[in-house]
Amino acid sequence: MFTNENKIRSNAVVFLVVTIMLALLFDKVPTHQMDIYTFLGLLLVTIFAACYPLKYGQMERINIFWIMIPVLYLYGLPMMILYYQLAIFAFLLISRMKLGNFSHYPIYAMVFFVGPLLSYTIITIFGFEFGTMPFLQMLLVNCLFYAIFALFSGVVIMTLNKQVKGLNLVKYKESLFGEVLNSIFFVLLGTALYTNFLMYGKYAVVVALLVYIITVKIYRNYDATLQKSATLENVMEFQVNFNDYETQQQITKEFLQKVILVTGAKQVSIVYETEKHFIFNNAQLEKRFINRFQLNLFQKVFAENKMHYIKKRAYLQMEHLLETDLKTESLLVIPIGQFDQPAMLLLESDALFAFNKVQIEHCKLLVTAYKTALEHKSVIEKTIYKSERCALTNLYNYRYLTERIEEMEIQLVQHKMETISAIILDIDHFKRLNDTYGHENGNSILKEFAAHLQTLVDEQYVLARYGGEEFVILLPNTTSDDALKLAEHYRQVIETLSFQITVLGQQIIKEMEVHVTVSIGVASIPEHTSKLSDLITFADKALYVGAKQAGRNRVAIFK
Ligand code: GH3
Ligand code: MG
Ligand code: MG
Repeated sequence: MFTNENKIRSNAVVFLVVTIMLALLFDKVPTHQMDIYTFLGLLLVTIFAACYPLKYGQMERINIFWIMIPVLYLYGLPMMILYYQLAIFAFLLISRMKLGNFSHYPIYAMVFFVGPLLSYTIITIFGFEFGTMPFLQMLLVNCLFYAIFALFSGVVIMTLNKQVKGLNLVKYKESLFGEVLNSIFFVLLGTALYTNFLMYGKYAVVVALLVYIITVKIYRNYDATLQKSATLENVMEFQVNFNDYETQQQITKEFLQKVILVTGAKQVSIVYETEKHFIFNNAQLEKRFINRFQLNLFQKVFAENKMHYIKKRAYLQMEHLLETDLKTESLLVIPIGQFDQPAMLLLESDALFAFNKVQIEHCKLLVTAYKTALEHKSVIEKTIYKSERCALTNLYNYRYLTERIEEMEIQLVQHKMETISAIILDIDHFKRLNDTYGHENGNSILKEFAAHLQTLVDEQYVLARYGGEEFVILLPNTTSDDALKLAEHYRQVIETLSFQITVLGQQIIKEMEVHVTVSIGVASIPEHTSKLSDLITFADKALYVGAKQAGRNRVAIFK
């Protein structure tokens, strides 16, 4: 949305405005003197809390209100806002590693300036003065302060999230109840800290800080557990469902998407090493080629079969290699292992230190699941291939043909298809070839013949070995005239083919060439019948009566 320069400029303007407003505030609103050690001590605690924020719903949230309460009561509102502004800097500085920019600064600066000011103003309008009072009353006032502040920032953030696409500001948790309980806890901690601070001074801060750290730790552990089980669920789901995916490509696509989901990577690819290049296979399944010369990193991973993780500035090595807009800061390469060729998984992110231990572990689990899925799929595909093909010629077999006929019958009944033709093709005097040159040679001729036929017949037609030396071609959406022309074309081409065979003569092995001719029968829907079950029978009749009996090496149509 903004260029970098614009961003820096707008941040600078906001910073200036905030500073001036803060100076005005120090001038207008009563503050108490604070000695430098207290200031620094409290600043240290504040910054620590800002840099070690709560984390739930996989989001980090600053909560330093508890330490701000004593600051507000003892030193006044301007001091509180000053701390908030400094805390934002600390938070953004450390989270910059994850967000990649400072673009949220103006929003945070505004929310953490106007928010406290608004709460303070509303509460003082009701005649309230921040000072010593009974604990319960103070607790209520603080709750009110926090509620106004939270409501204000909630509305601002929700509005901005809705209006600006891709902003992804920290969202509020879906559960309002949890959010309220959580807030009350921190208000309580802050109020207790203030009263204890009056009595015990800095020790109270140390205790409150400990309570804070323990709370955050518990939250983070809980959040990590939730995150782990959520990603494990993803891995499991992938493992259970891979049979639903029809092709290996679909499995790969799903796998890559799951990797993105589990790791938050911006771009995920599978890299194969081929003779000249590395092939990329990303989530869109587009292939990218890469100059091998520049990629010794990949070669190293391939050679050592070990994971490689560049945590920052990977673009320095990668920039000219990947044709992508992504400025890759973190780059993770995980070897997948051996399929047909060695492969590896490449994860890229524009954030520094983008991938943590858990994510990498889950990613490895996904890789294992992916490999198993692919192996299973390939076994299944091989089995299906075998069940549909003839072992000698590799053409589709009778079983496959009948399945396709059943499918097409449905299409005919549903009027999704109106015309269809069948061609039957039988090699002339094949028995004689067998008898003369032997069965082995007959086989090799059949094999070669099938290969020629495969290249001759367009892919949109169904070509199958019907039995022996007979072949069927089904031609959807083809009229009898067109089928006849095609058949004649096939016949003519076949006539010109020659087949190499080896024959054992008198003690010597002879290489020789033979030629074959075919007789062909054609029948069509709707010209000859309306039933697909009759079509092949009729084409067969045309073959025997019209072509074979008429002298062979010719095409005949059903009459
Ligand atoms: P035409 O069709 O011209 O009437 O004569 P033909 O000799 O080709 O016809 P026929 O149907 O009598 O014989 C077909 C022969 O094809 C019978 C069989 O020996 C041979 N044949 C069938 N399947 C195979 C096979 O898989 N391998 C070999 N080598 N021969 C086969
Ligand atoms: Mg024959
Ligand atoms: Mg025959």
